[in-house]
Amino acid sequence: MDARLEAIRDTVLARNPGEAEFHQAVVEVFESLGPVHDRHPELLEAAILERLCEPERQIIFRVPWTDDQGRVQINRGFRVEFNSALGPYKGGLRFHPSVYLGIVKFLGFEQIFKNALTGMPIGGGKGGSDFDPRGRSDGEVMRFCQSFMTELYRHIGEYTDVPAGDIGVGGREIGYLFGQYKRITNRYESGVLTGKGISWGGSLVRPEATGFGTVIFTQEMLKTRGTSFDGQRVVVSGSGNVAINAIANAQALGATVVACSDSSGYVVDEAGIDVALLREVKEVQRGRLKDYAERRGGVSYVDGGSVWEVDATVALPCATQNELDGGAAARLVRNGLLAVGEGANMPSTRDAAAVFQQAGVLFGPGKAANAGGVATSALEMQQNASRDSWSFEHTEERLTDIMVGIHDRCASTADEYGDPGNYVLGANIGGFVKVADAMLAQGLI
Ligand code: GLU
Repeated sequence: MDARLEAIRDTVLARNPGEAEFHQAVVEVFESLGPVHDRHPELLEAAILERLCEPERQIIFRVPWTDDQGRVQINRGFRVEFNSALGPYKGGLRFHPSVYLGIVKFLGFEQIFKNALTGMPIGGGKGGSDFDPRGRSDGEVMRFCQSFMTELYRHIGEYTDVPAGDIGVGGREIGYLFGQYKRITNRYESGVLTGKGISWGGSLVRPEATGFGTVIFTQEMLKTRGTSFDGQRVVVSGSGNVAINAIANAQALGATVVACSDSSGYVVDEAGIDVALLREVKEVQRGRLKDYAERRGGVSYVDGGSVWEVDATVALPCATQNELDGGAAARLVRNGLLAVGEGANMPSTRDAAAVFQQAGVLFGPGKAANAGGVATSALEMQQNASRDSWSFEHTEERLTDIMVGIHDRCASTADEYGDPGNYVLGANIGGFVKVADAMLAQGLI
């Protein structure tokens, strides 16, 4: 790493002790930014990096609620409003027991660059709670969401901060959150949240957008090697919203997705995952992959273990951060891996990313490859602002254009900085330059 940036990095790490995931995200970005600072020393003068690493505002709050037995439960809520140089803070809410400030900050930090890459007018933010929705009734989830919004409402708004979903937050949770916001404020402010239901201000394609977009980005990477998804053997990790829609789109483009996973194990389905059945099990019944395997028949379900044991030519990690380590990456490479498109945020460890890059595997980092979700959220905001709703075809076309645009911007930035095919460099510099320009123009903010 550039020595000038090392000193800034050390200060950032020391100021934010115990936030391992945030440190990881910051270090990865800093490693790409030396060449930009050579060309633009004014960025150091203006302390752009120091400012970028310090959120504009961080909110941590108590979320009290009662469970179905009438017992009082207490969770912790977060919203980190990281950077508003390009637009209102924008990013999802994650409800998962692992959530703490370091996770929210890594996600919020990545979101700044991701959102800049989409070309849409959105800043970066993220939030969530250590609440675990798994095994909770609809009533419990509703009471939790209502309590969460009873604090959050005062910090958000169409022009201020626009949350959406992430792990553990889907259409059901956004519905409860929106209902409570409307009730407290007495405003039908559609643009305050995205990922809404289609009859009350949501956008077509938003549910599919992250997984679809990851496949579109990966297809563009494959094209640079004269190939495509057609005939590829694909492994997807996860079986939530992002994974299911990545599987659907990869198969629509002619690939066979032979495996996917959940936190208990993975399924190997050599004929290709049955997406309709997977949707039914996961989205309607809120069941587990084991149930998919039992109902599908003739497939193997592996309890525990890693889905990355399964050979693939294309890997789409769509589960969670640091789910794919150096050992798994090396094994995938030995077995003929061509490309990795990250549907999740930071799913590859730093070792894994290094293995892929050294082996010449096409590697699309999450902040570029999974930007389709937030990009379509920005399209939802656009529809809300104009009180309009677009057709599926029109919205999907916009998503495709945005993803191809992100790919091309990453590729051309990597070329410009002398490292063709390095999508990590391209995404970090491409996103950074846009935010840095806006920050410089707006004075000392
Ligand atoms: N949570 C998603 C992400 O990681 C989407 C955020 C949004 O739509 O605002 O980008």
